[in-house]
Order: sequence, then structure tokens, then C-alpha cells
Amino acid sequence: MSVLRIVFRRSKNVQNIVKQHSACMSSAPQPVREPEIKHAQIFINNKFVDSVSGKRFPSISPVTEEVICEIAEGDKADVDLAVKAARDAFRLGSPWRRMDASERGNLMYKLADLMERDAVYLASLETLDNGKPFQVAYAADIPLSIKCLRYYAGYANKNHGKTIPVDGNFFTYTRHEPIGVCGQIIPWNFPLLMQAWKLGPALSMGNTVVMKPAEQTSLTALYIAQLSEEAGFPPGVLNIVPGYGPTAGAAIAKHMDVDKVAFTGSTEIGQLIPQYAATSNLKGVTLELGGKSPNIIFADADMEQAVEQAHFALFFNHGQCCCAGSRTFVEDKVYDEFVERSIERAKKRTVGNPFDESVEQGPQVDSEQLGKIMNLIESGKKEGAKLGTGGVRHGDRGYFIEPTVFMDVKDNMRIAQEEIFGPVMSILKFKDLNEVVERANKSMYGLAAGVVTKDIDRALYVANSLRAGTVWVNCFNVFSAAAPFGGYKMSGNGRELGEYGLSAYTEVKNVTISIPQKNS
Ligand code: NAP
Ligand code: MG
Repeated sequence: MSVLRIVFRRSKNVQNIVKQHSACMSSAPQPVREPEIKHAQIFINNKFVDSVSGKRFPSISPVTEEVICEIAEGDKADVDLAVKAARDAFRLGSPWRRMDASERGNLMYKLADLMERDAVYLASLETLDNGKPFQVAYAADIPLSIKCLRYYAGYANKNHGKTIPVDGNFFTYTRHEPIGVCGQIIPWNFPLLMQAWKLGPALSMGNTVVMKPAEQTSLTALYIAQLSEEAGFPPGVLNIVPGYGPTAGAAIAKHMDVDKVAFTGSTEIGQLIPQYAATSNLKGVTLELGGKSPNIIFADADMEQAVEQAHFALFFNHGQCCCAGSRTFVEDKVYDEFVERSIERAKKRTVGNPFDESVEQGPQVDSEQLGKIMNLIESGKKEGAKLGTGGVRHGDRGYFIEPTVFMDVKDNMRIAQEEIFGPVMSILKFKDLNEVVERANKSMYGLAAGVVTKDIDRALYVANSLRAGTVWVNCFNVFSAAAPFGGYKMSGNGRELGEYGLSAYTEVKNVTISIPQKNS
């Protein structure tokens, strides 16, 4: 059995993978510590090209703060070329439009196979560019991305329409058709996985794509572009334009010939995207934005499990998760014990070079994020939260932050309201069920939530009462390509993944045919 198969078996959920790290390590492969940068140009029509302006921008190592490489900087002119390529690939009668749906699925399976072949290289490149531990990239990001592509590959010939019994003598049926040219703007926290979440449903349903990766993490996206060509996708079906948000990203969202835009990132930018869409061609918009997810620990919980779950819910991926359990509500009866054990656990968290096997936490993605997180930590101190551990930078090179735990956090503090997106746990105390549900819901966000209890009635009541797109009971961060993900309120609109994710990438066409009546 290949190492990857073993990892796949272990990847029932990310929590298990991370828990089982120590067991994995003897069998997991070694990373490539200095992976070759094979592509740093714009990908249009299955070719790597320089930007029209000739400009380049640096990709910075979050570990050393040194330049990894210079990447071609896409701008409006490059987006125009990419959209033209995508439109041409989508024209009626093109190879992509004529291709059997099952064959589209086969291309996606092939792409997934190529990712599996190059898993060590891809995970190494992800670690270099993003700073996440190689062990996590290899055991979580890569297999989850592969599974996502395979899941949607299977859907290519299964998203069918209906026949509808309308009144009169008519035959009415629906077709689920591709939308056309899809713009996709993705963030840096899970570069490969966010790419797979976007490409999976878009390609499966027969769309073409113009994607902008985050400027911090373009390298794995560009390598996937090469693999898509190797898999056999026709030119123009997938185009990748690295560059900055206000230029390349905005050009996609404002483009008159882009039929739909999908965005994952901050709520702040998420509010701009629909404006761009409305003032250009009213393209459809789906948004996956920020969160301030409550994680509610009841006194009857198994304390060891609760502490580990809450630690994982917040600190996974260095706190850089839109769904991070960043408001840890703990019932007063067990509050002191929980706080003490959570501080102990955070102190044990290993921070350092993400290529090292023993490391659980690498650097934050860039200096801007480091500054933003340190500013929020300072606000927590000033507003009177009690610092249990951390609260400072780790070392003086690279964007590392000590795992931080704040206790006695109050609902009105900035650290309880704003998305920190860093390794900062905020622990709040509660007394009773209805109080905690009300406080948990008092947020502009509604992406995810967690509840830890042995009482099934209480778990169901809380799960039903929370206004969040995902509720995890006695677990957290359990992701599957088959299960929908997305936000209530200002955490976004639309759903990604699962069958629900298909509707964001299809138009429904109603065809009605008159049936002449033959009177015998
Ligand atoms: P961001 O600015 O929202 O970036 C997300 C993506 O949108 C990037 O590709 C970005 O390009 C692009 N973008 C930025 N401005 C744009 C514009 N005017 N038009 C079109 N696209 C645009 O997020 P960030 O600056 O990286 O991080 C800021 C905060 O956002 C974080 O602290 C965190 O709170 C939140 N965040 C949430 C998620 C999530 O998964 N929901 C992910 C990342 C960050 P650039 O490459 O130029 O930035
Ligand atoms: Mg930004």
C-alpha cells in the first residue's frame, strides 16, 4: 500500500490526520526542502506567458522573509487576454463544448492522478510558499484537493434536468447548462484546496475559467495549470492570472465578458465584488467570506477531548481558517479547568520551520497578517482580557507568532468580534444554554460553529439554533467534498462543495415543446 493510500485512509477528517501525525511520520515521505520553481508566468491558452506590461512581483518566503522568485504580474490587459481565451474555448462547437460529459470527468480524474503522482513536490511547494507544515500539506491539503476533483469528476455526467408536467399539451424539460466563463478569485490560506473547490464544480459542469490566485501564494496554482495541460484539457479552458487584487482581481469581477464570479477572502473585499458585478454586466456572484465561529463547550464534555477539539478548532493552519473556532465559549462550572488545560496545550504547540517533522505551526503568511494579528493581540491586552500564554512574536525572522490564549474575554472586545486569522484563542465564560446560543449568534458572521457535549438533546437544540452554515458536534474542521460549506449573514452567499455546489456553476434552461394532438 502506498504511503499516499495510508494517508488517504487516515484522512477521514483533518483532525484525525493531525492527531495521527506522530504515527504518520515514520511512513510519510520527506519533503523537498528547496523545490524547483517550475512556473512563474501567466497561464493562458495552455501556454505560460509574461505579463503584457512586463511587470513582475516578488513571492516572499514567510519563513526567511527572502524573495523566493519573481512572478509575472497580471493586470487588466492580461485578464482581457485570459477572458478572450476562455470565451473562445467556450464557443459553440469548440472541443470543450463538443466533449462528452463523461470525457470531461475523465480529464478531471487524470488531473487528480497527476496531483497524486506529484504529491510530494506539490506539498513541498505549498510549504515553501505558504508556510504551512509539510506534514499537513501532504496529509490534508493535497488529498482533500484530489478528492474534491474526483468527487466532481464523477458529477460531470450526473447533474441532469427534469421533465415537468405543465398544463396543456406541452413537453417541458430542463437542462443544466454551464454558465460560461467563470472568474474565480482565491485566497492564500489553503491555496491548492481553494483552487480545487473552485475548479471542481466549474470544470465538471463544462464552464471555462479565469482564476486569480492570491499574490502571496501563486506557485502551486501555476503548477496545477501545467498538470491540467498534461491531463489534456483543451487550450483556454483553464487560465490563471497571478497578480494583485485591486488590479487583476477587480478586472475579473468587472469584466463585461465574464459570466460569473466566485470569490473567497475577506468580508471587506467580499462587499466590493457584488458592486463590481452590478455595475458591469450583472454577473452572478458567490462569496465565501470571513467568520468568527463560536465553539461551545458544555460542562458534561470529556475534558481532554474538549480541550484538544478547541485547540485544533482555533490553531489549525496557524489560525488562518475562515471557519476557525475563534470564540471559545466554556460553561462556568468547568471554565477554570478548561482554561488551565488549554494554556498548557498551547504552550506545548511546536512552532518553527514548517519543513521540520516535529513542527505543528509555521509562520503566518506575510508581514501584513503578522502586523494585523499583533495589533489585535495588543487590543486584547488593552481592553482587559487576561493573557494566559503567548502574545508575542516568535523569534525575529519570519512571520511567526507564539500560540496565544486570552481568558476572561468579553463579547464587546475586538478580539471577540473581529476575525483575527491568527493563532489567538479567546475564551469566554457562559452560564446557561439560551444565554450562550444568543451570544453565539450575536455576530455579523455565520460561517461555522462547534458544540461539545455528551447530551444529544442539547447538541441538537444548539445545532438547530445557531445561525451558521456548518455546525460540528463533538468535532471540528471536518471537511468533505460531499458536504456543503458556506455562510449565513456576512460570511457569504451560496454554497461550495457537494451537490449544492453545482448550482453555482449551472444555468437551468427550460425547454417547452408543443405536442400536436391527434384526435382519433
Ligand atoms: P483579501 O484581500 O480579501 O484577498 C482575497 C483575494 O481577493 C486575493 O486573491 C486578493 O488579491 C483578492 N482581492 C483583493 N482585493 C480585491 C479587489 N478589490 N477586487 C478583486 N479581488 C481582490 O484578503 P487578504 O488581504 O489576503 O486577507 C485579509 C483578511 O481577510 C484576513 O486577515 C482574513 O481575516 C480574511 N481572509 C479570509 C479568508 C477566507 O477563507 N474566508 C481567506 C483569506 C483571508 P491579493 O492577492 O492582492 O490580496
Ligand atoms: Mg489583500
